[in-house]
Amino acid sequence: MTEWTTESEYVLAFSAAHWTGAAPQPGAPTIAVEVDGTFESTPGEECGVFGVYAPGQDAAHIISFGLFALQHRGQESAGIAASDGQTITVFKDMGLVSQVFNETTLAALPGHLGIGHTRYSTSGSTVWENAQPAYRQVEHTGIALGHNGNLTNTVELATRIGDDASTTDSMLMLDAVAGAIHDGRSDGRQLERALTKVLPLLDGAFSLVVMDQGHLVGVRDPHGYRPLCLGSLPEGGWVLASETAALDLVGAAFVREIEAGEMVVIDAGGVRSQHPFADVDPRLCIFEFVYFARPDSNLYGQNVHGARQRMGRRLATEAPIEADVVVPVPESGIPAAQGFSAESNIPYADGLVKNRYVGRTFIEPTQMLRDRGIRLKLNPIPENLDGKRIVLVDDSIVRGTTTRQLVKMVREAGAVEVHLRISSPPYRWPCYYGMDTSDSSRLLAAQLSVDEIREFLDADSLAYLSLDGLEQAAGGENLGFCNACLSGSYPTPVGEQGDKFVLEKR
Ligand code: AMP
Repeated sequence: MTEWTTESEYVLAFSAAHWTGAAPQPGAPTIAVEVDGTFESTPGEECGVFGVYAPGQDAAHIISFGLFALQHRGQESAGIAASDGQTITVFKDMGLVSQVFNETTLAALPGHLGIGHTRYSTSGSTVWENAQPAYRQVEHTGIALGHNGNLTNTVELATRIGDDASTTDSMLMLDAVAGAIHDGRSDGRQLERALTKVLPLLDGAFSLVVMDQGHLVGVRDPHGYRPLCLGSLPEGGWVLASETAALDLVGAAFVREIEAGEMVVIDAGGVRSQHPFADVDPRLCIFEFVYFARPDSNLYGQNVHGARQRMGRRLATEAPIEADVVVPVPESGIPAAQGFSAESNIPYADGLVKNRYVGRTFIEPTQMLRDRGIRLKLNPIPENLDGKRIVLVDDSIVRGTTTRQLVKMVREAGAVEVHLRISSPPYRWPCYYGMDTSDSSRLLAAQLSVDEIREFLDADSLAYLSLDGLEQAAGGENLGFCNACLSGSYPTPVGEQGDKFVLEKR
């Protein structure tokens, strides 16, 4: 494997096609992937998980469609583990779902049971070894695991189980589960028993899909930081998915959300529910509502798009402004801009166009392109901006690098005033539960006051939605949210840097 670093992004070249299990070894073409976003990187997203138990059906195909629907949660690597009841086969690689899977790779993943994962590293580096599902074999039991979230007690856990090799919290977790497997009693419940022992030892955020040869298991940590839901397939069988939108794509009917602190075991006997943790209050990540989740997903029974529109409406009442048009930053700012426009009666206009296909580019930017930065992703429509007072609406400012370039671009396109309205509060504290912003030195609002941020961004005015406004729009604070990144109030104790960097340095 070759690894090299350039000024603003780094590129990995590696050998593709790594297999585990009984599947044949295909040829190993070499591909290259830019890892750190486009020229000015935004913070990382998290991960998507998907699981299927579908007797008589081809799990890998269903999972691949589920992963397409969860691509927004991670674009770094994708993987599927499938079982025919006897053998687990795993295929995973760096890249988008469409780059990793095709009819040939899917055909080599036989079976009616499986799990899938799309990854954006929040722990561990961007290398093939850290792609998921992670796999271990203990005597006759194979275990595959896919994880969304971030553990906060990895050092303690690694010491406890004597693991000095794992480079991600997910692998550590799998090692702990593998260590607790005892094949002695062959009642088919070895995995379930091992999980019941290990899960209470974990702190932090984990929505998991786990499997052995014959069972699919879904787990949500006791706070339920990350989402996970259950669906039923039309031809029989069950699906687990990070988001409800992934159920829609495979034709599954929404059954329910997996509860915070719940473990479900799915096999020929149906779905069995257990609660292996002590009861605590649910704390779903509020940023799922702000940015992460797809607008066509439902969380806590609320449609995410509708919640984002309510955020925009509330923002218009909290921070009104005289202007000619409301312009969204596509795509994440669109629903909030619609809400702002409806509430303020200021007309809505598209002033920026997003290039949908840029994704992660293989092409190394020249200095000329680097200078033009944001235009790779967004380009203005001057006809809709020229001579106008603009309310520019986005869902969040994290590092401020994108927003600063956007304001400049909108001004260059002729806007006479640019009023920034952000449909979430200032992002001031690092997240240790799965979002890749664990360093407060990279958070603009951790460094500057709101007025200093306005000045830095060169906006005529700047206002953020209040925390109360955000929680009301997302369905009311009684639902239980983690808002640590916006309030500094962490549901569980975390070290100064969480635990993630310790594993990365191994
Ligand atoms: P910046 O001005 O560089 O902080 O970028 C702000 C943009 O990043 C907004 O359009 C947000 O929608 C987007 N954003 C917020 N959170 C994330 C994230 N975790 N990953 C990628 N982009 C994000």
